Amino acid sequence: MAWVGYAWLPHLVTPLCAWRGGRGGRRVALTFDDGPDPAWTPRVLEILGAHGVSASFFLVGERAAREPATVRAIAGAGHEVGSHGWSHTSLWLCGPRRTETEIARTKNLLGYLTGAPPALFRPPWGMVNAAMFAALRRHRQRCVFWSIQPEGLRPAPAEAQVAHVLRRAHAGAIIDLHDAEGTPGAPARLCAALPAMIDGLAAAGYGFATVGELLAAS
Ligand SMILES: [Zn+2]
Repeated sequence: MAWVGYAWLPHLVTPLCAWRGGRGGRRVALTFDDGPDPAWTPRVLEILGAHGVSASFFLVGERAAREPATVRAIAGAGHEVGSHGWSHTSLWLCGPRRTETEIARTKNLLGYLTGAPPALFRPPWGMVNAAMFAALRRHRQRCVFWSIQPEGLRPAPAEAQVAHVLRRAHAGAIIDLHDAEGTPGAPARLCAALPAMIDGLAAAGYGFATVGELLAAS
């Protein structure tokens, strides 16, 4: 019963508290979850660099601890670094103390590696709990979801992902992508889809911004 109040009710009200995009003019934010990955993240950085696009990376703390150079490469290229928790455990499985640790530890590490503590937090699997909102207030982080997810729990071919994004694109969209983990093979499909996705969005008149830039726009 307590679980209903701790996890399920906050989940239901999340749309009121968590940001899913929708402002910032005719711009979209590309967001990459679950990295850094030593093989795929540099490839994504290359593609973004070649297209002159800035994006947002929601990093998993324990992966960032293993790949500090990749974290610094992301920040050094001018991209935004957000937190995706320490161990990518669903917050539905975390009590208040574990929730605090997941958020605090990741914030401290990413702050140390990039020179600025992350201002954004994306809960793993999009699952929240009641303790998360208080912890995010303490750590001055904003909860961010997404409005377009071209590949969910089942693999989607690169062309289908591009078509999905172009069909649903809207002003202020937050596009959820995976440069690590996700469904098996997700980063490879992402890298195959990303150039056409960027070109297609640009051809449709969209510019690119980080999530922080969209949030700052009024
Ligand atoms: Zn994730």
